[in-house]
Amino acid sequence: MSKANAKVLIIGSGPAGYTAAIYAARAGLKPILFTGGQPGGQLTTTNDVENFPGYPDGINGPQMMIDLQKQAERFGTLVNFGLVTSVDFSSYPLKVTVDEKTEMTAESVIIATGASAKYLGIPSEEKFANKGVSACAVCDGYFYRGKEVAVVGAGDSAAEESTYLSKLVSKVHLIVRREEMRASKIMQQRVLNTPNIEVHWNTETDEVLGDDSGVTGVRVVNNKTGEKKVIPIQGFFLAIGHKPNTDIFRGNLEMDDAGYLKVVPGTTKTNVEGVFAVGDVADKTYRQAITAAGSGCMGALDAEKFLAVKEHALVTH
Ligand code: NDP
Repeated sequence: MSKANAKVLIIGSGPAGYTAAIYAARAGLKPILFTGGQPGGQLTTTNDVENFPGYPDGINGPQMMIDLQKQAERFGTLVNFGLVTSVDFSSYPLKVTVDEKTEMTAESVIIATGASAKYLGIPSEEKFANKGVSACAVCDGYFYRGKEVAVVGAGDSAAEESTYLSKLVSKVHLIVRREEMRASKIMQQRVLNTPNIEVHWNTETDEVLGDDSGVTGVRVVNNKTGEKKVIPIQGFFLAIGHKPNTDIFRGNLEMDDAGYLKVVPGTTKTNVEGVFAVGDVADKTYRQAITAAGSGCMGALDAEKFLAVKEHALVTH
């Protein structure tokens, strides 16, 4: 059996990955972490994080990720700026390929590759990213208190985010591309019964408008009549779903229909021994930095226990 390069190999560098690293490093497991293509993860696309406990004045998202990296490194985590491009969990030790060339083996793997919010893919949306365009109402809604915003989408996320925002902002324009919503009936009712949410049916986003100060409006088009109009808004929220970053695990790990990794409830254990999934890659419900960090801690404790049991078995046989 080839000797493993890593006792604990962590894939991903959001709050889940770094928290797993802090715990594994403090347990003396010398974790090796690969950051992935977006070091720091989704929080690096947010300005102020005000809901992470312990920061009474809030913290800048990218700064928080730098701090988490430093904390992980302080205890001996080896942080590598590499992208894991394939894995082979069909035999033990577990195999991981980095940047399509470096092959490594690991005694345990903690997957913290997260999920990516879906965007419409229009240039103006990208131009105003972080300047009025957001894919997280819970993260950024507070900055639009008393202002008008738009939400795009028609699923449970769009319904939930519109309702959440309606309590903060003066008016929510919900942009729905069909003449009905996909969201559950109860959540739709909540939207329709909220006086300051206006639903724009059969409506698609043509362009996000703005200037140096950020977003000032959105031009929409009615896909039945072709009629265009401008809605003055300051915040433009995407709620058209997330995609878990699990493509490289297809065929290796069990996942649900949407591609989220399946774990044994109440744990971070996947269907392969020694492989653990933490954070948004296995969570389509909560998706918060604090819940990701919490599950990162669980993943490190699960990995530590797995390694201890394996070592004990080797000693006693
Ligand atoms: P969904 O995939 O359920 O819905 C995405 C929505 O976005 C659809 O209504 C879709 O429209 C719309 N959409 C997709 N692409 C575009 C586009 N290019 N332009 C305009 N609209 C677009 O994603 P959600 O994030 O809403 O939900 C994901 C999962 O999480 C679901 O299972 C949901 O039930 C669950 N969830 C549960 C919550 C709860 O129970 N509290 C809260 C949030 C999510 P169309 O309908 O026309 O396809």
